[in-house]
Amino acid sequence: MDQTTTARRVITKDEYEEACRRVHVASRLSGEGVANVVAAALSAVGVLTPPLRPDELEPGCCTAQAADDHGYWLQCGEDPGHAGESHGDGDFGWTDEYADAIPPQD
Ligand SMILES: [Zn+2]
Repeated sequence: MDQTTTARRVITKDEYEEACRRVHVASRLSGEGVANVVAAALSAVGVLTPPLRPDELEPGCCTAQAADDHGYWLQCGEDPGHAGESHGDGDFGWTDEYADAIPPQD
């Protein structure tokens, strides 16, 4: 573990309760269980996991990414170079101005 001189942050009771709530929800989801639980817990206290690497992106789709309310990184499902600044995966939509968004990369 990285030994830094920065003290760890003590989260608030509300943050802790929100993290527990989100982990409870995430733990019932199928798929990459542990990764989803970690993402949900970190997101609840204002931290995001690393975005999708270029080799993890779906080929043939727009490369814009955004983290949803659960801290899960989503890739835009539209065609590369599509018109407009709106992106989405069908359930979650965002623009390049969304705080937790990464605009399309070339
Ligand atoms: Zn897009």
